[in-house]
Amino acid sequence: MQKLFERVETVPVNPYISLKRYLYTVQQAFIHARQYQREGNYEREALLLLRIATLVQKTISKHPNYNKIESANIVKEFRLHAQLAIKRLEEIKPLIDAKQNNCEDSQPANSVKDKSAPESESLNAGISTHSLSATKARTVQIHEDMLYVFESAARKNTKNNKETCGILAGVLKQRILVVTSLIIPKQTGKSDSCEMLNEEELFELQDRKSLMTLGWIHTHPQHPCFLSSVDVHTHASFQWILPESIAIVVAPTDKQRIGIFSLTHPGGLEYILQCQQRGHHPHPERVPKGYPGEGKPFYENCTHVELIRDDSIRFEVSFGKRSKLCPVRKHRVTNAVYCLFYHNIR
Ligand SMILES: [Zn+2]
Ligand SMILES: [Zn+2]
Repeated sequence: MQKLFERVETVPVNPYISLKRYLYTVQQAFIHARQYQREGNYEREALLLLRIATLVQKTISKHPNYNKIESANIVKEFRLHAQLAIKRLEEIKPLIDAKQNNCEDSQPANSVKDKSAPESESLNAGISTHSLSATKARTVQIHEDMLYVFESAARKNTKNNKETCGILAGVLKQRILVVTSLIIPKQTGKSDSCEMLNEEELFELQDRKSLMTLGWIHTHPQHPCFLSSVDVHTHASFQWILPESIAIVVAPTDKQRIGIFSLTHPGGLEYILQCQQRGHHPHPERVPKGYPGEGKPFYENCTHVELIRDDSIRFEVSFGKRSKLCPVRKHRVTNAVYCLFYHNIR
């Protein structure tokens, strides 16, 4: 049982992450779980639902603000999400059991049953880790122009040595994760970090348009093209929900300029999820001995990303809820930078 529970990594609570940010993570996880449900990928769906239940029960419930009176409403939401996750797990467990019984002759099952375990743990017992790790990463497609649009949207901040970040959101089309939306949320940036504000607005926008979070993009105004210790922690929370999540760094002063990264798995992801340090802090150069994926680098260039240059995918840029006047054609748009880019440069 313990071995399986480790498979659903229990993440230590980070008091610097607000409860609202955690809620956004849980909501996003549900969107991805529903997608797996539509694909009939019940093992992945179950793993994500287990992570939701575990995150709420074992991590978020230890947050210093969790028991404060002003958190009552958000706590209700967390509990509701955990209940929904467990209810759905109960529904799909027989489907997974049936599938695994069919596979049992050909591969060893890693599952151990334990009747005394709490709800999410006993549900956990039916999921073979073997079939999960065998799932191949889906391709992520992103239009190359989106990177330049982001760079131009960030130009003012970059000039002032402030980082800018954006969310890469999109849809699944014929087993390909297509980035269709660059969302630049309200944020505050410094020379070596940036923080999204108002996650509710971000979630509402994505929910309305049925957009999944596929990764994030940010600038390094004067730093090289790499993932800092803060970045790898930020990315771990994306990749923990969606293994194919990508982190794009735009570093105008670096020769490499643009990097598309993800954490190694097993390796960097597992190490970072258990690292309890916050802010900028040193990590070993490679995953240390005794950890899954020991000896690997913490992150690497993505091999599952396809940069699109033709018109086969369309994308939009939005700034949270705000719409803006296009500075060139004066029509009201939510994607002023996109317009600016196309009117001026094309
Ligand atoms: Zn960074
Ligand atoms: Zn760390």
